[in-house]
Amino acid sequence: MSTFVCGKEETMKVQNIYESLGIRKEVYEFGEEILRSLKERFEEIDETAEYNQLKIIEAFHRNRVSEACLYGSRGYGYGDVGRDTLEKVYADVFKTEDALVRPQITCGTHALSLALMSNLRPGDELLSAAGKPYDTLEEVIGIRDSKGSLKEYGISYAQADLKAEGGFDLNAIASKINDRTKLVTIQRSKGYQTRRTLGVKDIAEAIGFIKSVKPDVKVMVDNCYGEFVEREEPSEYGADMVVGSLIKNPGGGLAPIGGYICGTSECVENAAYRLTSPGLGKEVGASLGVLPQFYQGLFLSPVVTASALKGAIFAANIYERLGFEVLPDGSEDRHDIIQAVTFHDPKALTAFCRGIQAAAPVDSFVTPEPWDMPGYDSQVIMAAGNFIPGSSIELSADGPIRPPYSVYFQGGLTFPHAKYGILSSLEYLVRENCVNHLM
Ligand SMILES: *Cc1c(COP(=O)(O)O)cnc(C)c1O
Repeated sequence: MSTFVCGKEETMKVQNIYESLGIRKEVYEFGEEILRSLKERFEEIDETAEYNQLKIIEAFHRNRVSEACLYGSRGYGYGDVGRDTLEKVYADVFKTEDALVRPQITCGTHALSLALMSNLRPGDELLSAAGKPYDTLEEVIGIRDSKGSLKEYGISYAQADLKAEGGFDLNAIASKINDRTKLVTIQRSKGYQTRRTLGVKDIAEAIGFIKSVKPDVKVMVDNCYGEFVEREEPSEYGADMVVGSLIKNPGGGLAPIGGYICGTSECVENAAYRLTSPGLGKEVGASLGVLPQFYQGLFLSPVVTASALKGAIFAANIYERLGFEVLPDGSEDRHDIIQAVTFHDPKALTAFCRGIQAAAPVDSFVTPEPWDMPGYDSQVIMAAGNFIPGSSIELSADGPIRPPYSVYFQGGLTFPHAKYGILSSLEYLVRENCVNHLM
């Protein structure tokens, strides 16, 4: 007999599975109550996903993506039609002149580092218009001394902090732009900070302002975690480069490695000559066997991003209701897929990550511990039972072990999995007595 009958019995059955997965009834019911209040928001997210899905499929059609594009190449990779077509697809999706989308770009930090190192020269100055950049970029820039940093190559750095209440400080930006300022970087997502994520509209305004102060300055946007959350990308508003990782949103959970730089022909050409070699540029770089995942991942990305976004909103509403600080809050507009929850308690941070890990499809039985992760200046605890190690478009959570003990939660290839993960995080908090009562 089928166990999946309609109505109440089915609901019972789902709850029974949750219970056998270790989620107590009170946690499940609390989650259901929160979910009922989110119907309309989830519909809006689905509409954005539809828009972006169509935008991507249109780019596939326009560039005549064919079966031959999926074969890939080995060796030098000359004339790899699949690689070259994929780069045209990316350029179309992000509305840029050109794109570099390669498995040889190993991660987001590498993509950003490549974009910076190839477009700056000794004597130039880099300005961050959005405050302190992502932790790993501190070593790229030389804010923390490191071998091979921009600083070692005689490229200086200046920083305009965001306003205390969030948002760009245009006066500070104007005062930091000088005749050596060559490139301005803007980080869309909050990274490991408890600041607001910047929306495409805010970024567009800032770019307009920066170019009015110094027309020939290049603007790069660190687009990590922001892709396809909104209908438009910062590259549609004058960013010379948008840069990100394929094991986040645009890889759709399928890309096993890779990064992208979409931008002006000049910026992308500079990056290509740096990635491979002067004289070789985009002509070499075998795609090996990854093109099917790159194409299919991009194709799936809008819906995968929507699932992650719903998970983030679900988590925000759960933890907000329980009295924790959440950023963004339960009702505000979203510009990336990251959800921060601040616990002011290392025990709760650890419990949260362990709950996420316990819900993972892979390595659900391991217990996350804090560790000294390369590129970060304090210990970090991470939950990531992923198909692709380190992929943070998959359900994952991490947080530096330092006050205020915030966890940064992101991903979920499907919403049902994100939902289960969040219920599991709550279950672990309840077990550790970090939550008093569910209401
Ligand atoms: C993830 C991330 C990076 C770095 O990407 P990795 O793939 O982890 O190297 C840079 N900037 C932001 C805002 C990010 O979220």
